[in-house]
Amino acid sequence: MLKEFVDVLVIGAGPSGCVSASHLHNNGIKVKVVEKTKFPRIVVGESLIPRVMDHFAEAGLFESLDAMNFEKKLGARFIRGNEICVFDFSDKYGKGWDWTWQVPRADFDNTMAQEVIRKGIDLEFESEVISVAFEGKNSITVVKDKDGIEKEIHAKFIIDSSGYGRVLPRLLDLDTPSKLDPHSAIFTHVVDVNRPEGEEGTLISFDILETEVWLWVIPFSNGNTSLGVVGPTDFINALSKDNNKVEALNNAINMSDYYIKRFGGVEFAFEPVKLENYSRSVKSMYGDGFALTGNSSEFLDPVFSSGVAFATESGMLAAKLFIKESQGITVNWETEFTGYMRRGIGVFTTYVKEWYTGNLQTLFFHQPENPDVKRKICAVLAGYVWDETNPFVKKHDNLVKNMAHLINSEKELAEKKLD
Ligand SMILES: Cc1cc2nc3c(=O)[nH]c(=O)nc-3n(C[C@H](O)[C@H](O)[C@H](O)COP(=O)(O)OP(=O)(O)OC[C@H]3O[C@@H](n4cnc5c(N)ncnc54)[C@H](O)[C@@H]3O)c2cc1C
Repeated sequence: MLKEFVDVLVIGAGPSGCVSASHLHNNGIKVKVVEKTKFPRIVVGESLIPRVMDHFAEAGLFESLDAMNFEKKLGARFIRGNEICVFDFSDKYGKGWDWTWQVPRADFDNTMAQEVIRKGIDLEFESEVISVAFEGKNSITVVKDKDGIEKEIHAKFIIDSSGYGRVLPRLLDLDTPSKLDPHSAIFTHVVDVNRPEGEEGTLISFDILETEVWLWVIPFSNGNTSLGVVGPTDFINALSKDNNKVEALNNAINMSDYYIKRFGGVEFAFEPVKLENYSRSVKSMYGDGFALTGNSSEFLDPVFSSGVAFATESGMLAAKLFIKESQGITVNWETEFTGYMRRGIGVFTTYVKEWYTGNLQTLFFHQPENPDVKRKICAVLAGYVWDETNPFVKKHDNLVKNMAHLINSEKELAEKKLD
């Protein structure tokens, strides 16, 4: 069998794998990326948050992505009946990027992968990991190409960025159930023939259909818009009796007073995709000779668009820690990798949970708005969830809940007085 020798093998060429591989290569590490599919391929995760821009810039991928003129995302809008809450990233607490992109991931990921290849990184498409054997930290990975030909890749370290492929979690029995309630989604793209002019046409929006059910609207610069419905799995399954995804998505669109005119009856660009019980977790994010990054380790929920940001954050961090180790510096993976990532994931876990309890929605739609609270929550939504000078980061586990309870009790009191 053919043998190849590298310092680091990266599994998967999504955002996590590309950021990781690019940073390693820029620092003189011999890296190879294997990707099961042929790009462009369809994948969900189209609304980014500003924190990702730090990673694309640091990995040297920003310029090639910027040249694609993807739709700029300057903020996000949440709609609940007649109530509207708009977050503007330029009006957030603390430092950080004020904007990002909303992207068809097929084009976006392909741009990144081509840039990785252009830099001189060995990225092999249609090359699927079949097995991995560790001898201490060193590993031998067997990959199979589209013609069924197998070869061995010997590596000193593996960064598993295989997304839902979850190569090492499966092979090493690292999967563990997510602590979040089971939720599912159905999405497609439409040719946005009724798109209004100006900001109304391009703003990313989340329309709350019921407390736990929402519709996403992500307009792209190519004239298409991504539409998706998210909710408890039982609810999503009940949208169509015979699991007809077209019917299910149309039923969800019909529930939206705000969007029925724009999207009612529009043609879907492809058969809607259903993602059932999408949350994932792992027992451990690293081990001897490997680290898990992006969706291969943890995925929470799409509601605050944090998936790609965690994918690039963990991909970049794993690359940096490997570089440090290769320079002879001891790395404590438990604190420097897992501990760091779990702090950020913990903040977003609270926000996801409090979204579905309705507490966060209480804060979002409370009038009059408190500009200081809004700026601090906006920084969290932008992905700056390691900034502990922000009380909405530091005290995330009770601040949202307590403020929502206060607002609700004041409301109840006012209603009693009126009676
Ligand atoms: C319903 C839903 C909506 C979402 N919306 C958003 C959003 O709006 N914004 C956001 O930021 N995130 C969103 N996400 C999350 C987002 O999709 C992921 O977090 C993100 O794509 C993870 O990137 P990644 O690089 O880890 O994995 P991926 O982008 O999935 O890339 C993994 C790659 O690994 C390859 N691979 C798999 N198995 C193998 C193998 N055996 N050998 C070789 N290669 C392999 C795959 O082909 C794939 O190309 C959403 C997720 C869901 C479920």
